[in-house]
Amino acid sequence: MCRSAFNSNALKELENKGYLSLIFLGGKYRFKMLQILNERQLQVFEKGVDEYSIECGKASAAGSVSQRACVFCGSRVVLYPVADAVHLVHGPIGCASYTWDIRGSLSSGEELHRISFSTDIQENDVIYGGEKKLYSVLCELIDRYKPAAAFVYCTCIIGLIGDDVDAVCKRVESERKIPVIAVHSEGFKGTKRDGYKAACEALFRIMGKSSSTLVSDISINILGEFNLAGETWIIKDYYKRMGVEIVACLTGDGKVKEIERAHQAKLNVVQCSGSMTYLANKMKEEYGIPFIRVSYFGIEDMSRALYDVAEFFRDSEIMKRTQMLVRDEVSKLLPILERYKCDLLGRRAAIYVGGSFKAFSLVKALRILGMETVVVGSQTGTAEDYEYLKEITKEGTIICDDSNPLELSKFILEKGADVLIGGVKERPIAFKMGIGFCDHNHERKIALAGFEGMLNFAKEIHATVMSPVWKFSPARKKARGM
Ligand code: SF4
Repeated sequence: MCRSAFNSNALKELENKGYLSLIFLGGKYRFKMLQILNERQLQVFEKGVDEYSIECGKASAAGSVSQRACVFCGSRVVLYPVADAVHLVHGPIGCASYTWDIRGSLSSGEELHRISFSTDIQENDVIYGGEKKLYSVLCELIDRYKPAAAFVYCTCIIGLIGDDVDAVCKRVESERKIPVIAVHSEGFKGTKRDGYKAACEALFRIMGKSSSTLVSDISINILGEFNLAGETWIIKDYYKRMGVEIVACLTGDGKVKEIERAHQAKLNVVQCSGSMTYLANKMKEEYGIPFIRVSYFGIEDMSRALYDVAEFFRDSEIMKRTQMLVRDEVSKLLPILERYKCDLLGRRAAIYVGGSFKAFSLVKALRILGMETVVVGSQTGTAEDYEYLKEITKEGTIICDDSNPLELSKFILEKGADVLIGGVKERPIAFKMGIGFCDHNHERKIALAGFEGMLNFAKEIHATVMSPVWKFSPARKKARGM
């Protein structure tokens, strides 16, 4: 390659950094984006090929076009299902529209969470400050909708202009006599994980305000379950059948009154550990409530979650009821899954999700369907999470942290995945590449948790992987050697 012809210093620097490479195309040297940037080399690991070490939990590399959402979005997705609260986005209208109706969370009562209120910050507010506007908007919303609480989300611009959001919230709280909480989620101040933390801080502020009703000695809080397509109701039903009282669910079908008394529960059961472990730790320190981590996806993890709760209470009746419940549900489910497995045996899946706990369950659930995971990654996994993913996946699996569309496309092609399991931002990658897609993120409308959820998941995967449309897809033909 004649590199002497390559005389632009700026481009040279970009190439040295790994952003570009020279390729010979159409008789000329051209630049091509590399799929893995040099700064990201240690965030990608191929089992059995690379020596294991993975970097994670760091800020996204500039130029990477990360799939991650911002801090504000992180807090918004956690608090969104609290349906009887006003959610006010203090910032430009774009931040509010970006997260408008962001989850498929259902509510059994109020539906205030589905409206995206915004202070619609404009140039004048940036110059003169947005506190007066925030105060009047908050008062108007509270008077009009009579919410049980109000969350005020701080966005990038609010962090920059320095509005004293805490002072405004404090004033409105004392005047209107409901919790008015500033969520410090300025978009630029960290990763999506910092947004989860800001949301946990906000929930913790509501907690402990009420001990009006006595709770049973066999009671739990469900943490990190967001009632997508009614999943909280499925899970609550299992616990009720076991004889376990649910004090609060944070935040699926969330109600402020329930969150206020969550400190009385005897155990916290944490599903989405990425978002809720911080709160579980705070509740342990402040109220002495122990917690366990579970997952409600797939047969193995769903059953384990129920057994772990039963074991915690050391009550033989609860254990008996749990065994019966699991036996009944699994015996109904397995024969149907076997039928799907016949078609899906040996098919390959790529997984890219927000939290890695969900990825663990998906790897196991796909195995039950006879499928192999060839690529798996997450936006917010920890070193221990990736270590565990390494343990449960096969040689040759690519494990990646905070990935981007170029990398994911490359891995999918390399490994010949038949289906990509991800969320709204991963969907176009699958569509453009001509492979199957399964939405396993917070916008979905189909329940995928619990035993019922496993059946829906199998149906969904089967329908997309076996669709006859793939015989027209070059990517699929190549992967299948057609
Ligand atoms: S908070 Fe900042 S990064 Fe997030 S959507 Fe608003 S402007 Fe964008």
